[in-house]
Amino acid sequence: MKEFDYVIIGGGCAGLSLAYELDIHEKLKDKTLAIIEPRSEYKKDKTWSFWKVAPHNFDDCIKKSWENFSINIPGKTNFLECKGYPYQSIDSGLFYEKINSRLKENKNIFFFKDIKEINSKNSFIFNSVSNIKKDHLNLWQHFCGVEIETKNNFFDEEIFNLMDFDCEQRDSVHFFYTLPYSKNKALVETTWLSKMNDNSQKDYDQQIKDYIEKHLKIKDYKITYKEEGAIPLFYPSYEKERNKINIGTAGGMTRLSTGYTFLNIQEHSKFIRDNIENISNINRFEINKKYQFLDDIFLRVLNRHPEKMPDIFFNMFKTSPKTVIKFLSNKSNYLEDLSIIFRMPKMTFIKALFY
Ligand SMILES: Cc1cc2nc3c(=O)[nH]c(=O)nc-3n(C[C@H](O)[C@H](O)[C@H](O)COP(=O)(O)OP(=O)(O)OC[C@H]3O[C@@H](n4cnc5c(N)ncnc54)[C@H](O)[C@@H]3O)c2cc1C
Repeated sequence: MKEFDYVIIGGGCAGLSLAYELDIHEKLKDKTLAIIEPRSEYKKDKTWSFWKVAPHNFDDCIKKSWENFSINIPGKTNFLECKGYPYQSIDSGLFYEKINSRLKENKNIFFFKDIKEINSKNSFIFNSVSNIKKDHLNLWQHFCGVEIETKNNFFDEEIFNLMDFDCEQRDSVHFFYTLPYSKNKALVETTWLSKMNDNSQKDYDQQIKDYIEKHLKIKDYKITYKEEGAIPLFYPSYEKERNKINIGTAGGMTRLSTGYTFLNIQEHSKFIRDNIENISNINRFEINKKYQFLDDIFLRVLNRHPEKMPDIFFNMFKTSPKTVIKFLSNKSNYLEDLSIIFRMPKMTFIKALFY
């Protein structure tokens, strides 16, 4: 069986981002790479959105970028600006197409459907496949989004809605998220932060229908695309191995308080590219411990007091949006962290710190 210098298990967001990063920086000129990916066809299956706080390789895959957003709780709306850190949405279909067409040109990159087809004993492995069980008792961010096209112009495409908590909460944390791509096209998503095993929240189609028709009051529309997913709000556990690095969600690249992963995956890819010549000996890349600690407390509060979360999120954004964006994107300094922390209900968070 054939052997390779590097093996990437999983040709999804993290696997392909890493292969692309290595390829464009000519790190595969005299090294071979095998990508293991079972899917037979790539098509758009996700919309990756994030505040652009750092450069990345995929500006040409952006569906839309915004510099204004809103957040609301019943009876109150806060309109905010994010100039300097635009919110971007990447179309996964364009992303897959861009990367795969480039990688196919490199004669040192090989594609397989199953790891059993190669001998990976002597390879360095980048693994993006996790063994997280769906019925895990930890918190998940689970969601379903649809892209709709309305008959008449309805949306203000200059402003997206990050969180609309003006909806039923069912003893959990629930909000809608709307990304208007144009005056008559938008992604509308229902998002829950809860324990995954709670099927009482999975009537997504009805939730979205009610929100579009009763809340937004849109009658004439059609659904053109649908995506569904669940992001674990806990770090997957794995054994450290000298010849293996976990990447993507499996590698702990999700910011637990938000579910944002895409930009962390890009930063991880750059880190690996910078250190590829000495990859077995470097310290592992991880989300700054400061955020791991703060997110842990935040999720404890969320778990115990879901009813407080709409106000907590709303008040968080009363700090300057730039500060909150930097905080949520792992780029804040200690003064900025403190200005967020002071917005939180102190006793609730102090109690969560100690038990
Ligand atoms: C619907 C959805 C929307 C999201 N939106 C956002 C967002 O807006 N912003 C954000 O920052 N994050 C978002 N995320 C979170 C995160 O960015 C994505 O999940 C991202 O795709 C994670 O990349 P990954 O490579 O870890 O996993 P994936 O992209 O899922 O890649 C894993 C790959 O492994 C393959 N695979 C599975 N089993 C095997 C096997 N046995 N052997 C080999 N390969 C295998 C799969 O086919 C897949 O291609 C979203 C997640 C989902 C599910």
